[in-house]
Amino acid sequence: MIKKLLVANRGEIACRIIRTARSLGIKTVAIYSDADQTALHVSMADEAYRVGSPPVSESYLMADRIVEIGVLSKADAIHPGYGFLSENPEFVEKVEAAGLIFVGPPAEAIRSMGLKDAAKKLMEQAGVPVVPGYHGSERDPDSLAKEADRIGYPVLIKARAGGGGKGMRRVDGSEDFRSALEGAQREGMASFGDSVCLIEKYLTKPRHIEIQVFGDAHGNVVHLFERDCSLQRRHQKVIEEAPAPDMPQDMREEMGRAAVQAARAIGYQGAGTIEFIADVTDGLRPDRFYFMEMNTRLQVEHPVTELVTGQDLVEWQLRVASGEALPVSQEDLGLSGWAFEARLYAEDVAKNFLPATGTLNYLDLPEDRARIDSGVRQGDTITPYYDPMIAKIIVHGQSRQAALNKLQTALENSHVAGTTTNIAFLSSLARHPDFESGDVDTGLIDRNVEALVVEDKPNADVIAIAALASAGRLEVRKGTDPFDTLSGWRHWTEAKQFVRLEWQGDTRELCIVSKGAQEFSVEIENEAVSISVLSVSTNSVNLSLSGRKTSACVVRSDRELTVFFDGRSCLFNLPDLLDNAGDVAEGGENQLIAPMPGLVKLLHVSNGETVIKGAPLLVLEAMKMEHTLLAPRDGAIGEIMVSEGGQVSEGTMLLVMAEEKDAA
Ligand code: ADP
Repeated sequence: MIKKLLVANRGEIACRIIRTARSLGIKTVAIYSDADQTALHVSMADEAYRVGSPPVSESYLMADRIVEIGVLSKADAIHPGYGFLSENPEFVEKVEAAGLIFVGPPAEAIRSMGLKDAAKKLMEQAGVPVVPGYHGSERDPDSLAKEADRIGYPVLIKARAGGGGKGMRRVDGSEDFRSALEGAQREGMASFGDSVCLIEKYLTKPRHIEIQVFGDAHGNVVHLFERDCSLQRRHQKVIEEAPAPDMPQDMREEMGRAAVQAARAIGYQGAGTIEFIADVTDGLRPDRFYFMEMNTRLQVEHPVTELVTGQDLVEWQLRVASGEALPVSQEDLGLSGWAFEARLYAEDVAKNFLPATGTLNYLDLPEDRARIDSGVRQGDTITPYYDPMIAKIIVHGQSRQAALNKLQTALENSHVAGTTTNIAFLSSLARHPDFESGDVDTGLIDRNVEALVVEDKPNADVIAIAALASAGRLEVRKGTDPFDTLSGWRHWTEAKQFVRLEWQGDTRELCIVSKGAQEFSVEIENEAVSISVLSVSTNSVNLSLSGRKTSACVVRSDRELTVFFDGRSCLFNLPDLLDNAGDVAEGGENQLIAPMPGLVKLLHVSNGETVIKGAPLLVLEAMKMEHTLLAPRDGAIGEIMVSEGGQVSEGTMLLVMAEEKDAA
């Protein structure tokens, strides 16, 4: 058995591999770029070595350097994870030439599946159905155009070296064929250094269904059933599930048989996936699925297969790489229940799903409700160098509906602050009626994208919670006296406090009225929300909201406030109060002194009015900038010495607070 394993990857998958290696008593070696010095995968491994600078070409793709580290650290095997060097046959050869085990298939198996045209030919010969099309040796545009006519439009042109959806063009009529071919060739050349393209019949209602396969060095090959990955955006998977909804048993058997045949045809060892496309214009049928490509590595979505089969696929990989036979036979494998995986990303859905960056100043994922595979912790930063995945949220239930319910609640309880995420989008998708009913196809997201990306306006309850939080009313106090642990209790009459909040470009001033011990009314335009604060802990607060007992999570950073409530999150900016935080100190506890010369623009209070510490008292305008001066303490206003419109010089006494005994 392997004793020491170098994990040639980072993030979620590196952590995933280390976890299983550790459970098998295998020592682990991590590699890291300068951007990953303190990353989770580094802290989880027994040893870690720097591999290079942040860009992947100078770190995680440096095959020679990684093999060197393998030798140096006395590892006896290298696991490539997915992406990076995982499907690079030269890397496999380098690892083996250095006397180490590559945890994955033989270099030749990777090579034979590397080009889509050669792979399709090979599969045809092995009797595996392939998408009708042309993948012969003809390169001339005229001949290819004739082939497209023969296949019948619409067709899909694919760069044979393509991957990740790149180098693909759909063509709806012969007039567009040539320019599309040129486009696909250009993209193939630019991204993969190869311009050769093949043509396929474009299926108008397809489902992406893939089969997990496994082979060992003793000639055994099994399949671990299917995953449905039809929920895609730009050919990227978003939510995956196992098994596939409404899969007839005869089709499942037929696909499993074809996948095992495909793996056998190339002498496959280790974990692999045969991706099929199913034409579902007439529903799922055993004669309507076609080989698309084989991924000769572990897939991102492998956990759904683990949950429905009860197997640990990384353990299988390590055993097979150590020379052991597969742990179970086909007859011993079965499906149990249903599983979903949602890919949680730092990305700006509203801005066309642009990858986002940022420091995760709050990260609370529902480990009690789901399996969370992640490579980051609270406080970590999502950098622009790598895939911006935050976590995979994976659930299992006895039925599809039970698993879907779990996915929906897990997403609602996923709280991230510090970067924009796709959580709300995933939540809407998980509740989409077509997805709920299992009526999926690869066009589902595109057809519904507008409805799925709608940003909710915060409702009055959320705004009221944010107002209290921004006024410091939801903070844990340091004192040990239980009556001291909640802020803002006062024993005099109703007091008003104004706060300004900004959300989605909208700035509003809100009024908080203290109604008693921890009881408030927040006035939002014509509405008033009454809130009792029942208890507060670091980030969560128990409330009674207009009589309904509930809880919320509030995260505050320098200038931002995120409220997680009722399964939604809402980000508020704190525009004014913090800008002027320094202004509180002028004049000490009992008076307000002009910190600079200026014009008294606005008086928020009148003589005798009671205020709370931090409440805005007056606005001073200096050098065209407004400065709000805040109450230095709780109490009543004793005397106001200035009036609106008046000019004051620096050091002018503006207002004094009443003696504390006067206020009681
Ligand atoms: P890549 O290697 O770039 O991922 P694939 O060949 O695996 O490309 O195809 C990616 C996705 O494109 C599939 O999951 C499917 O959604 C879509 N697709 C591929 N081939 C076809 C086809 N013939 N008709 C319709 N959609 C297709």
